[in-house]
Amino acid sequence: MTVTHRVVVLGAGYAGMSAAIQLAARGKRCEGVRVTVVNAQERFTERMRLHMTATGQRLAELSIPELLEGTGARFVRGWVTAVDADAKTVRIDDDRVLHYDTLVYGLGSVADTSAVPGAEDHAYTLSSAQDAELLADRLGRLGSGTVMVGGSGLTGIESAAEIAERHPKLEVVLQGRVEPGAAMKPKAKAYVHAALRRLGVQVRTGVEVVKVLPNGVELAGGESIAADAVLWTSGTRVSPLAAAAGLAVDQRGCIVTDATLRSVSHPDVYAIGDAAAIRQRYGVMHGTCQGGMPTGVHAALSIERMLKGKQPKPFRFGYYHTSVSLGRGDAVVQFTRPDDSPRRIFLTGRMAVRYKETVTASPWPTYGRMKKMPASGAFWPRGGRFTRVREAR
Ligand SMILES: Cc1cc2nc3c(=O)[nH]c(=O)nc-3n(C[C@H](O)[C@H](O)[C@H](O)COP(=O)(O)OP(=O)(O)OC[C@H]3O[C@@H](n4cnc5c(N)ncnc54)[C@H](O)[C@@H]3O)c2cc1C
Repeated sequence: MTVTHRVVVLGAGYAGMSAAIQLAARGKRCEGVRVTVVNAQERFTERMRLHMTATGQRLAELSIPELLEGTGARFVRGWVTAVDADAKTVRIDDDRVLHYDTLVYGLGSVADTSAVPGAEDHAYTLSSAQDAELLADRLGRLGSGTVMVGGSGLTGIESAAEIAERHPKLEVVLQGRVEPGAAMKPKAKAYVHAALRRLGVQVRTGVEVVKVLPNGVELAGGESIAADAVLWTSGTRVSPLAAAAGLAVDQRGCIVTDATLRSVSHPDVYAIGDAAAIRQRYGVMHGTCQGGMPTGVHAALSIERMLKGKQPKPFRFGYYHTSVSLGRGDAVVQFTRPDDSPRRIFLTGRMAVRYKETVTASPWPTYGRMKKMPASGAFWPRGGRFTRVREAR
């Protein structure tokens, strides 16, 4: 095959894999397109299960190169160290260079340990499988003691519940600015609180950690709390590579896209998943897998249209749920409107566990299906009136 267009996908997370598989499967209809996927590891990181890894639970071995087999896409294992948006090159591990005609940027996000002094040096994170394994090792060696989970968002809740369930001899403290489940309706939120109580998790909210110490945390006001391990889940940050490359980014470093997911400064770069700042009518999307996978598929569809000389279509997405596990035997699923505000309906207990597990397990089989039937990947909630933009007359 004579290669006439090189597409390089950076990051094989939930969004990057969606883009790569969709592109490769559709590429058969676009003569001369070569797709290359770059990722730090060959094993797919199920980030939505990293709180399970952190408590010593073994996850399935999901091989990215094996999944890409038969699609024609190449896999390059390595760490992206620079993007040159003018020369249209990507540097891998400092010593290899890949050339692209179109770049799909999906390097995701990690826990924001830069927000509080000491977090980078002393706190554990769920930023990667390796980071989660480090915490699992620490928890496994602690007979008793205190584990502090910093950040009372969904990742903090899931982690605190999982640790308390798996390590009942440890004291688990969940600390954050807002109440756990703050974005849920009162009954769903109350269920989250009751489950945390049942698991013995102490919840401290309305407090601000100002420093992470080798043996605990310091709060605003000067109080120190001792802890044998601190897990930092508060906030996320993105790789500085996009900003360093001169791409237009927002205040968090996420690539600002147009309606079709192209960078507003560099139209040959598409941004997807957590690394992108994608505006919908209700605001800028926040990082989730439910929204990330559609961004990957849409970027692939846009690239295919562009290669065929057609105009890419605007991306539209509406949220449909917020789900949180509370150990292995309990969960809450709060259904939402497309703008992520909570509806009245929610699930709890076994029904919620089954729902949550179905959703968490779905990406890998979805990729497998997309390989054979690319169109099957193009189903997601578009958000109806919440995302409809009236054309100017
Ligand atoms: C514990 C936990 C539970 C979660 N639960 C949910 C949930 O229930 N529902 C939900 O919708 N979302 C959930 N999320 C959020 C969700 O996981 C993220 O929004 C999603 O992973 C974003 O997908 P992504 O493809 O943009 O990035 P990622 O999945 O983070 O993938 C990015 C990929 O890029 C690679 N990479 C990064 N930098 C480089 C580099 N320089 N060189 C090479 N490779 C690199 C990474 O190794 C990774 O493979 C959860 C997150 C956590 C941590």
